Amino acid sequence: MSIGEFELIERFFHRSLNAEGVVKGIGDDCAVLALPSGQQLALSVDTLVEGLHFPIDAPADLIAERALRVNLSDLAAMGADPLWFTLALTLPSAECSWLEAFSQGLFRVAAEYNIALVGGDTTKGPLTITLQVHGSVPNGEAITRSGAKAGDRVFVTGSLGDGAASLALIQGKISPSVDDISYLQERYYRPLPCINEGRLLRGLASAAIDISDGLAADLGHICEQSGVGAKLYIGQLPVADVLLRSFSQQQATHFALSGGDDYQLCFTVPEHKLATLQIMIESGKLRATCIGEITKELNVVCLNRDNEVVSPEGFDHFKAYE
Ligand code: ADP
Ligand code: MG
Repeated sequence: MSIGEFELIERFFHRSLNAEGVVKGIGDDCAVLALPSGQQLALSVDTLVEGLHFPIDAPADLIAERALRVNLSDLAAMGADPLWFTLALTLPSAECSWLEAFSQGLFRVAAEYNIALVGGDTTKGPLTITLQVHGSVPNGEAITRSGAKAGDRVFVTGSLGDGAASLALIQGKISPSVDDISYLQERYYRPLPCINEGRLLRGLASAAIDISDGLAADLGHICEQSGVGAKLYIGQLPVADVLLRSFSQQQATHFALSGGDDYQLCFTVPEHKLATLQIMIESGKLRATCIGEITKELNVVCLNRDNEVVSPEGFDHFKAYE
C-alpha cells in the first residue's frame, strides 16, 4: 500500500513532542526553537544515498538508525548535547511497511539520545536520506578541530577497527564466528555516538574529531586545522578484540589506523589537564587511551614499538560506502 505525502508525515513522523525548546514542531512552515540561555547552536547535515552510503535493500529500521547515529557522532565530536533534528526523505515510492520500519528505527535512536524530530521534507526520487542535527554547547565551549598545540597528548576513546571489520564482513572478505558476525552487523548499523564522552571533554580537550575516515586521516584533519603535526605510537592503538580474531596483529593494527566508520573520538589534551583526564579514565567515567603527541613538525608520523618510523600506507584496506 502506498499513501500521500501529508498522510505519510502524519502517520510516520508526527509525534507529539514534549521536547526542550520546541516552540513549534512538525506541521507549520518552519519549526520554531528556543536555545537554552548561555548556549550556542551546533549543527551538522549529512546525506545518505542508497547504494553509496548503505547497501541497496538494507533493512529500513537499520538505515534510519545508522543515519541518525552517524549524525549524532558529529555533535559528540564538538562536545554538543543533542536537541533537535530534521529529516529530508526522498523515496521512490511511499511503501507503508518500509516507512513503518524506518520510523521505528529513527524514533528508537531519537529516544535513546533525547533528540526530537522537528521538521523535514518529503519528495519522490531515488532513496536518499538527509538528516540535520542540532545540538547545544555552553558559550565558547565547542571543541573544534583547530585547537591542538605542540606538546598536547593525543587520545582515542574506546577501541578502533570495528568499522573496518564490519565493512570487510559486508563485502564478504572475512568469515568470522557466528557471534562475531552478529557483533559486527550490530556495529555497522548501530555505531555508538560518543555523546557522553564529548560532553566530558568540554573544557578539557583542546581539539576533537569523530573517526569516520580512519584515525590517520582524521587526526590529519586536526593537525591541518591546528597548524601542527603528530607522532602516533602504533603499538599503543587500542585494537578491537574482534579484529584480532579475524586478522593478523599487523593487519588489525592497520585497520585500526586506516579503517573508517568507528565513530570513536580522537582528541588532544594539553599537558596541564592530563591529571584531570587521568582521574576520569581511572574512575571508569571515560574509556580512552593515549596514542601519541602533537608536534610542531607538520606531518603525522607513525612510530612502532621500537620507535622506528613506519608507513601507514602499503597495506590493503577495504574501501566502499564512503
Ligand atoms: P512546505 O511545503 O511548507 O515546505 P511540507 O508540506 O514540505 O511544507 O511539510 C509540512 C510539514 O511537515 C512541515 O512542518 C515539515 O517540516 C514537515 N515534514 C515534511 N516532511 C517531513 C519528514 N520527512 N519528517 C518530518 N517532518 C516532515
Ligand atoms: Mg517542504
